[in-house]
Amino acid sequence: MFLFKKIISKRNFIKILLANFYFSILPSYSLSLNKLKRIRFYYNNKKHKLRIVLDTSEKINYDILKSINSKTFKMSLNNITINNDFKNPKIDEDIIKNLKLSNNNNNLTFLLDSHNTFKYKVFTLLPKAKYDHRLVIDLFFLKSFISDVKKNKKNIFKSNKLIIAIDAGHGGKDPGAIGKNGTKEKDIVLSISKKLYSLLKKQKNIKPLLIRSKDNFITLRQRISKARVYKSDLFISIHADAARNKKAKGCSAYVLSQRGASTEAAKWLANKENSADLIGGVRINNKDNTLAEVILDMSQSAAIEISIKAANEILLSLKKVSVLHSKNIEQAGFVVLKSPDIPSILVETGFLSNYKEEKKLRSKKFQHEIANAIKKGILSTIKKGII
Ligand SMILES: [Zn+2]
Repeated sequence: MFLFKKIISKRNFIKILLANFYFSILPSYSLSLNKLKRIRFYYNNKKHKLRIVLDTSEKINYDILKSINSKTFKMSLNNITINNDFKNPKIDEDIIKNLKLSNNNNNLTFLLDSHNTFKYKVFTLLPKAKYDHRLVIDLFFLKSFISDVKKNKKNIFKSNKLIIAIDAGHGGKDPGAIGKNGTKEKDIVLSISKKLYSLLKKQKNIKPLLIRSKDNFITLRQRISKARVYKSDLFISIHADAARNKKAKGCSAYVLSQRGASTEAAKWLANKENSADLIGGVRINNKDNTLAEVILDMSQSAAIEISIKAANEILLSLKKVSVLHSKNIEQAGFVVLKSPDIPSILVETGFLSNYKEEKKLRSKKFQHEIANAIKKGILSTIKKGII
């Protein structure tokens, strides 16, 4: 055996190193080795997800090695060597800080450092059509790279407006909560939603979307679909509470619970209309159900984490104009929050069952204050690169 070291690529700050490459002189042994033919990278348009595909001649045997932090992914590819015609993959340096492939006793160590934290999923695929055996590594980033890209490329800002879906709860035959003075939740939340829409419209990096703009009935699933059709980056459902305890008051924010999320994956797959859909940048048709469910789960749990951070910003902002019913983010299985790939938040703007709050919620001034506070929370969410 002999050892050589070779640098295969240098692209700006990105280095792919092919280091400590052991080459077996025993032909029979080297023939039995799996070959790494190619590494391919795919990014979804919002750069929330990176898919890395390793094409190999045989089914790959791998071990995921413990990473030092959630920005690093390390794995050992066992009994494999790099094919002679292996070409350097194209890498987006806005996302990947460092990619290193090193060989050690017929094993390759794959090490990836990103600028942002991520969750990952690894699975193998059998040969199909023009493809060989594949090992797929999906990285789900907890923060979009778009805001970082914007800092670097000023012109991209205009063409990459963030789409904020504003969902006024209830409507039409469904009045929602009703206050002592007959105030209907559906009217209050539509008024706040329209105010929020006008405020967001003034922001040059935001394109707001009203899920309902009049007093009509829309099912919860239709609300989700509309937000997805318009490729929303954030979904905010606006409500006003009611409770038996007439003293209950203040704002609260909800995101989807994990339990709500896990039952949702199976439902999405059961619905034929969704099967050709894009989830977290991955088309889920032609995939077996277990794999599709895994992708859905990963995408949804990443969306929940983003939702929690965004909800926090909104609550902090609401605290300045009203009291908080609960200072913690609540988690529940609300259907309207179940988009598998759109961070979704439900804001309760106050209690119609509380006489004083009903009066406040009716006033245009308070409605404006609430809308403005939600706007500020959204702006801070964007500024911090949460969405
Ligand atoms: Zn409601």
